[in-house]
Amino acid sequence: MAASSPPKARSHASGSKVLRVRRNIAAVSTLMPPPRSRPAVPSSDAPLPAPSSLRRALFVDRDGTLNPDLHYLQDAERLELCRGVGAALALAHQHGYLVVCVTNQSGVERGFYSREDVERIHARLNLLLRPFHTEVDAFYYCPHAPETACGCRKPGTGLFEEARAEWSIDFATSAVIGDRSLDIEAGRALGLLTAHVAPYAGSLPSRAELRERGLVADIEADRFDVAVLRVLAGG
Ligand SMILES: [Mg+2]
Ligand SMILES: [Zn+2]
Repeated sequence: MAASSPPKARSHASGSKVLRVRRNIAAVSTLMPPPRSRPAVPSSDAPLPAPSSLRRALFVDRDGTLNPDLHYLQDAERLELCRGVGAALALAHQHGYLVVCVTNQSGVERGFYSREDVERIHARLNLLLRPFHTEVDAFYYCPHAPETACGCRKPGTGLFEEARAEWSIDFATSAVIGDRSLDIEAGRALGLLTAHVAPYAGSLPSRAELRERGLVADIEADRFDVAVLRVLAGG
């Protein structure tokens, strides 16, 4: 069994649920140089864990990144993985990354689907990853519509900070991969290595959205697995 178990699951204060999978992740060496010049980690009132216990994480968006975006998907059976995702996540784990999915699911508050539907989709996603002997270690989702102006909907950083506190994550050695400008915006705000993917033709929105918002991702890749390889190479 894991020498250090992850903390017990609990509900996010704003209502999002976390699905956890027990996993023993090796602590990241604090001797590793910080990867390149990136914005400083913003201050937080939360006490930081001792440096020796910090882990690096690969934060991944869900829809349009791990799986094709089916827009307000309710039925877990329709979920598919994007090409190369299983092998790439397995590789990230082999390199000592915790895999944390952070996803906006405004369909909950809009009434298109329930929290149980979301959790079924996350369980199904990990089922699809099983042949690759890997899994998403934790899912964090925002159930709110944009009008609610919560702190957990990306590009808000609330869910990333919650994950940091619960899994002892070091943002300076962590990365985020997503298909939207809001993924990159959140990653920039936290000092993560940022990777933008456009996994299929006509991906919405495309890199034009990044440019319109004046954002530049550290890594731009068409495919998720290519993005992961570049993250592992340090950018
Ligand atoms: Mg997305
Ligand atoms: Zn929220």
